[in-house]
Amino acid sequence: MAVIGSGPAGFYTAYRVMSKVQDAIVDMYEQLPVPYGLVRFGVAPDHPEVKNCEEKFEEVAESPRFNYVGNVKVGQDVAVKDMKPHYDAILFSYGASEDRRLHIPGEDLRGVFSAREFVGWYNGLPQFQGLDPNLADGDQAVVIGQGNVAIDVARILLSPFNALRHTDITEQALESLSRSRIESVKVVGRRGPLQAAFTAKEARELMNMPGVAFRAIDSGFYPLDIKKLPRIQRRIGEILLKGSKASLSDTEKSWALEFLLAPNAMNAGSDSNNLASVDFTRQEFSPGADNLAKNASVSATSETVTIPATLAFRSVGYKAAEIPGLAELGVHFDHKLGIIPNDPYGRIITPSAGPGDLAASHIPGLYCAGWVKRGPTGVIASTMDDAFTSGDVIATDWHSGVPFLNTEHGNNGSTGMGWDGVKDLVTAQGIRPLEWKDWKRIDAAERARGRNLGKEREKFGSVKEMLESLDS
Ligand SMILES: Cc1cc2nc3c(=O)[nH]c(=O)nc-3n(C[C@H](O)[C@H](O)[C@H](O)COP(=O)(O)OP(=O)(O)OC[C@H]3O[C@@H](n4cnc5c(N)ncnc54)[C@H](O)[C@@H]3O)c2cc1C
Repeated sequence: MAVIGSGPAGFYTAYRVMSKVQDAIVDMYEQLPVPYGLVRFGVAPDHPEVKNCEEKFEEVAESPRFNYVGNVKVGQDVAVKDMKPHYDAILFSYGASEDRRLHIPGEDLRGVFSAREFVGWYNGLPQFQGLDPNLADGDQAVVIGQGNVAIDVARILLSPFNALRHTDITEQALESLSRSRIESVKVVGRRGPLQAAFTAKEARELMNMPGVAFRAIDSGFYPLDIKKLPRIQRRIGEILLKGSKASLSDTEKSWALEFLLAPNAMNAGSDSNNLASVDFTRQEFSPGADNLAKNASVSATSETVTIPATLAFRSVGYKAAEIPGLAELGVHFDHKLGIIPNDPYGRIITPSAGPGDLAASHIPGLYCAGWVKRGPTGVIASTMDDAFTSGDVIATDWHSGVPFLNTEHGNNGSTGMGWDGVKDLVTAQGIRPLEWKDWKRIDAAERARGRNLGKEREKFGSVKEMLESLDS
């Protein structure tokens, strides 16, 4: 089986298939030299415990039935149609590498970033090492969106230097944050606190951050007897209503949650192309909507609210993109949902007219898992559950003898060469594929760099540096 993408979805599915199909061999393709997807490049540097799943991934990778093919971008360095003859199954687990835009005027002003860029920047993602966010231009930042990623961005902007300096945040980001003038971060949502997507744990962490005060929210969003709310909303409500340990009178740094505001324009200062403020349209709960319901709807009022800010981050979701060449395998990427069409188990299916459309059928041998399967929501634990479902269905299909790739009836129709059948096509283009042992050397070099700085690791910020470290 070829697995495309080395994030949690790829690793957990590989693990499941290798445990349930005796002798199954997995080749895992990863576009970067380094593995683990958003565990390395998304999860916040001050949450190292979340990265413990890497130990499990490493265990999977140490199996003699597992081959890592790093630094090879499927769809660019090798076409999926050229991989097909050599595999029985292909699993697409390449995540969601784009971000959703707001489509409002001024979104490209200097000082406006996607959370994806900013998170990638502080986590060492090569693509965004040149970002250079203007953290020293002003003291107010706005984050648009109220999920956990938005809270991560606010926390990193407000964290005391010492809370980050021993983490694996890049030195470049640390240096830039040490010069940051940001004192106030407003995290803005279109609906109310009961509809926000962040979790209690993330909110509590920011409330407990030393030297950072929380601006109280309007208690009118909550019923008088908060105990009547479902457990999760009640816990979040209690945290928000209690507020922060630090008080506004004792500290300059603060954060706030702003509700019922939808962005409609980003404005530049009078003599520059730099962000100066963000305009929002005030929302109200739609007539008849249950304000306490998770899915309560809102509608626009005629009021505009302007929030001054020199930095704005849109954190309104990630989006998967189509890999070139999918259509040649009969896969029709769903651009609207940003997923590969699949049945509830992860079998890739032909286009369907919607649930219950029996005309949609499985394309033999093709499967998906993770964010490209169900959209960019959910944490590592839910991605694991979902990947196990995909792994189980691959094993069940294999054992029941349904057609896989290159077979009309039954299994074993491929050349069985796997990566050996693909390698020459890749190396002929001057691309240097990496094995697991190469990643382990990069890993060791990063840890050595980190030790000198009193950190767990100092990541290489470019593919060139990663590859050069293998030659030194
Ligand atoms: C900013 C952020 C913070 C998060 N923090 C947490 C957290 O604290 N706790 C938690 O539980 N969850 C967290 N999550 C969620 C978690 O990261 C995801 O649930 C999970 O990573 C999704 O797994 P995936 O394998 O589908 O995608 P990814 O992790 O994105 O992995 C996809 C992999 O595919 C590779 N790839 C892409 N295209 C190609 C190609 N053409 N060829 C080869 N390889 C390719 C990518 O480089 C990547 O390595 C966070 C998410 C984000 C965005």
